[in-house]
Amino acid sequence: MSDRARRSPRVLSPAEEELLRWVVQHSAAEPKPYLEQIPKLRVVGYCGCGCPTVDLALASTARSEAIGYPIAEADGHSPEGVYVGVIVFANDGVLSMLEVYSVTGEGGPYTLPRPEALTAAPPTTWPRPVAEL
Ligand SMILES: [Zn+2]
Repeated sequence: MSDRARRSPRVLSPAEEELLRWVVQHSAAEPKPYLEQIPKLRVVGYCGCGCPTVDLALASTARSEAIGYPIAEADGHSPEGVYVGVIVFANDGVLSMLEVYSVTGEGGPYTLPRPEALTAAPPTTWPRPVAEL
């Protein structure tokens, strides 16, 4: 994460919010608390490679500590026709990243997929880090 670009926190774009909301709604095992966070989130970082992946944090802290663990996933095609995967991450129960990546590794640039171009992964209880006592 240290190579992530950092900028002043900004609100999510309408496309980011729509995509995040849709993937959480359709793939997270417990979507409700995450959906309630979405209006309070800010974009606090970007991937350096040119993909549309963004780091997220609550506006109250505006700082993401770590990626955390995946809570929802989907795959489909970007508007440019690139086969992409979308993974939503949370850390300590707070949404931390909206990742969009090229499944086949083919080059970009590509932009956020529209929800209607995606298939959501079935809700899964993803493995979560267990605190060592
Ligand atoms: Zn990237």
